[in-house]
Order: sequence, then structure tokens, then C-alpha cells
Amino acid sequence: MIIYLDNNATTQPLPSVVEAMLPYLTDCYFNPASFNTVFTGADKPRRQAAENMARLLNAREPDNFVFTSGATESNNWIFADLLARESRGRIVVSAIEHASVLEPAIALRDYNFEVLEAPVDKNGVVVLDELEELLSDDTLLVSIMAANNETGVLQPIEAIGTLIRKCVSSARFHTDATQAIGKIPIDLQGLWSEVDLLTFSAHKFHGPKGIGGLYVREEINVEPMLKGGGQEGGLRSGTTNTPALAGLAAAAEGVHLPSMESVRKQRDNYEDELKRAFPDVVIHSRDVSRLPNTSAFAFDGVVGEDLTQILATEGIIVGNGSACSSNAGHPSKTILALGVPYSLAEGSIRVSISAFTTPLFSEKLIQSLSRYMNQ
Ligand code: PMP
Repeated sequence: MIIYLDNNATTQPLPSVVEAMLPYLTDCYFNPASFNTVFTGADKPRRQAAENMARLLNAREPDNFVFTSGATESNNWIFADLLARESRGRIVVSAIEHASVLEPAIALRDYNFEVLEAPVDKNGVVVLDELEELLSDDTLLVSIMAANNETGVLQPIEAIGTLIRKCVSSARFHTDATQAIGKIPIDLQGLWSEVDLLTFSAHKFHGPKGIGGLYVREEINVEPMLKGGGQEGGLRSGTTNTPALAGLAAAAEGVHLPSMESVRKQRDNYEDELKRAFPDVVIHSRDVSRLPNTSAFAFDGVVGEDLTQILATEGIIVGNGSACSSNAGHPSKTILALGVPYSLAEGSIRVSISAFTTPLFSEKLIQSLSRYMNQ
């Protein structure tokens, strides 16, 4: 039996997700762009997905959502949009963004854009004073993730939004909320009301892979990501992925934030036990607000990749490095940004659990780690 502890890489689809998708892979395989959707019902998954996402994130309207192939596409879109509309200006991203933000941002340096990285403190939290210094009058876009995929550290989205509005009200505020959705409450008309653009991927909250989207606030215009048949209001052409949207709708409906409290307890108990078993273990960012399901830790002198592989042979799946881009072959930029020595960054591994994780995981993982460390 596999003990799956890599839920920040992907999650198990809910049974209700699989059930919701099936009709659109069998009887209802029709194209919703055809004039006859009143008869086929093939337009339902997209409508339902937009309604459920709006409810989950408390967005004003289902129309705030555009569906894409996932977070990577949505993140790339933010920068492609900028390039289509502007010829120069400043872009600020945090130093610990996912590669699907960092790489397209940095690519804009070749086109007269100044791209600056906002530093994080030793816990991985963006330093607001330093961010403020980067917010010049010509700042077009600030992109700061809601929750980090490796450490689970939460950024102060409300405070960052307020700061951006105070310093440069015209700048757009994008947040990659891929890891946050389904794990923490999000309120786009409340604490997160300054967020203009928000990225998500269904497979991170028990939905299917290959579907996600971008929340776009009413006042914001974006250039099309893909041109063609005019789907998604002309913003993202391509035949609508009805099975995936049905799955996304069911995943959004299935989010149950209260169960995250028991996930948090399991994670905290596990970290206490880990510390008891290995007093020298370094648990990253333990003292700041984190996702309830994530624990990133390191043993000095142990290579995380080796440990991950050994654990896998024992049926325990954990993440290491960026974990979404396996075999990167070098320590993660996020962990190095915490200011830890190279040898510790190299040793970092990530355990990310979910409401489906067996409570026995902690005992089994620590047993396996002990065997490895004591050999
Ligand atoms: N952003 C973050 C923070 C992520 O964790 C991931 C997935 N690891 C992505 C973006 C990319 O998501 P996807 O692979 O679903 O496009």
C-alpha cells in the first residue's frame, strides 16, 4: 500500500469528481459551442464550474472566471497579457514564486521591462518594507503567491494589497493561489478584495488535472491568451473541456475547510514526533502562518533526493525540491531564500498531507526515516 504524502504536487480526485466527469466522457460528449446546447446540456459543466468557483472564493460573479489548462497557463497568461498591452514598465514578483511565474516574468527583461524580486525574510514571508521600496510609479504588475508550494508559508495578501493601492494604485495585483485553494478561506470581496487576478488549478484541490483558471476582477481587461474559436468570451479559445470542467465544479463543491483543522492537528503532531525522534531536524518556517497540510524539513548532510527515493521504495511518497519539477538537480530557490546553508537546502524534503491521509503516516514515516538515518 502506498502512503501518499505529496498532496502539494497533486491530490486524489474525489469520488464525486470522477462521477461528475463520467457523463461528459460517455453520453454527453457534445461540443457546447454548437447552437443546440439547450438540447444536449453540454454547456452545464462550464456554467457550474464558474458558479462553484465564485461561491468558493466569494467572487462577485461567475463571469469573473476564465478557464485554462491550469495554473501554469494562467500564470504565463499574466505576463503575455502585459507584453501585449504595454511596451515598458516595472514588474515585481516575490523571490519564491513558482517557476511558472518566475520564468515568464524574467523573460520580459528582454522586452524593456524591469523585473524585480521582492525578498523574503528567514521564514519565507515577503518583507513589506522592502516591497514598498520596489513599488515605483511605473510599476505595472505585482505578482505574489498566496501560499508557497514547498514550505506552505502564507503571504499577507491583505496587507500586500493595501500597500500596492497606497503606493501605486494603478498596478495590477496578481496572486498565484494554486496551493491555497481548498486549504484556507479566501474571500475576494473581503480580505482579498485588492486582488485583481488569481490563478488556480483543479488537481490541487481534489479535481482533475489539466484544468484550472484565472479569476479576473470586473474592472480589469486582459488580452486573449489563445485566439481562435472565441470560447471563454474570446479570451481563451479551444473546444471547451467539458469533462474536466464538470470535475472542477465537483471539486469546488467538495471543498470542506473545517476538515483542514484535523489535517493541521495531524501535521503538527507529526512535526512534534519528528522533532522528538531527530532533535537536529530543521523544520522550515514552523513559526509563521503556513498551510495546514505542509511540512518542509531537512537533515544536515542528507540529500533530499536520495531520501525521497529510499522512502518511495518503502511505499512512502514525499516531495523534494520544487517537487512539481522533479529532478531539478539543485536545491530549491525557495529554501535557499530562507538563508539556510546549501547543505540543508539540499537535504530538504516536503510532506504534504490531505484529509485522506491515514493517521498512521507519521509513525510509518518516522520508522522509515530512522532506518535510513541509523544505517
Ligand atoms: N503554482 C504553484 C504555486 C504550484 O504549486 C504549481 C504546481 N506545482 C503551479 C503553479 C503549476 O500548476 P499546474 O502544474 O497545475 O499548471
